[in-house]
Amino acid sequence: LRCTAAPVIHPDGYMHRTVVLIHDVTAETRHRDALASFAGVVAHDLLNPLTTIEGWTEAADDALEDVPEHPCVAAAHGGLVRVKRAAARMRGLVNDLLAYTTTRDAALTPAVIDLNRMVTDVAGARIDTAVAAGTPVPTFTAGDLHPMHADPVLVRQLLDNLVSNAVKYTAADVTPHITISSSRMDDTVAVTITDNGIGIPAGQHDAVFDTFHRAHRGQAYSGTGLGLSICKRTVERHGGTITASDNPGGGTRFTFTLPAVAEALPAVA
Ligand code: ADP
Repeated sequence: LRCTAAPVIHPDGYMHRTVVLIHDVTAETRHRDALASFAGVVAHDLLNPLTTIEGWTEAADDALEDVPEHPCVAAAHGGLVRVKRAAARMRGLVNDLLAYTTTRDAALTPAVIDLNRMVTDVAGARIDTAVAAGTPVPTFTAGDLHPMHADPVLVRQLLDNLVSNAVKYTAADVTPHITISSSRMDDTVAVTITDNGIGIPAGQHDAVFDTFHRAHRGQAYSGTGLGLSICKRTVERHGGTITASDNPGGGTRFTFTLPAVAEALPAVA
């Protein structure tokens, strides 16, 4: 059961009633569990053929290096580059599906996180990927970030998701610029990630956190619509919140909160 309550305020200013709504979420929970196990099966079944495609494409491309120059060799190389790009996109989708299923029930293992170091790692990986793919190399500005107390594996995945979205949802001819800052409020750290991308369409800033919701579709933006729902689950399991808003200068801003100290973690996470 999911309960929500709201006060009813009397015209004289005092609370004279409380409205309590009790929803039976059994069907919703069953539906989500069924989706998660389906996603898990699909991801596992895709992994083997995908690994074969990646391995043999790489091997075939390496072998072409020893073949004398010829238009057919150039055409074959061009074809292999396309297959490699498609396989990389597919790997991203499979990883999303796996993350959606594997992080569902695992217990949290919180530890002190050096956010400066983690952000440097995550940013470095995005820069390497862009260099390898020959796309505009993102730039990062990060202040001196506050340490936090949370599950490092999940927080790394959270940052990876938000930062890779910030890069992905930027027009192809624009250099992504991502700014990361943090502030401490009592026992909580708030982290803000701002990009100069294409923005979220009006009215969809909450919906983007729903499972499988995608606000942009098409060839340029492949995805599963799972990343932000995983982010939301991670943050909420730590007792925090995550929101999306427009960046006044263009682009999007995501803000999430996580515990600054162990005492701020919820009792059951
Ligand atoms: P996807 O696999 O589609 O990227 P996500 O759950 O990560 O799934 O994101 C859901 C949707 O939110 C995306 O499809 C996209 O439309 C939108 N979105 C996410 N991050 C950004 C961003 N930084 N800028 C603009 N739109 C975004």
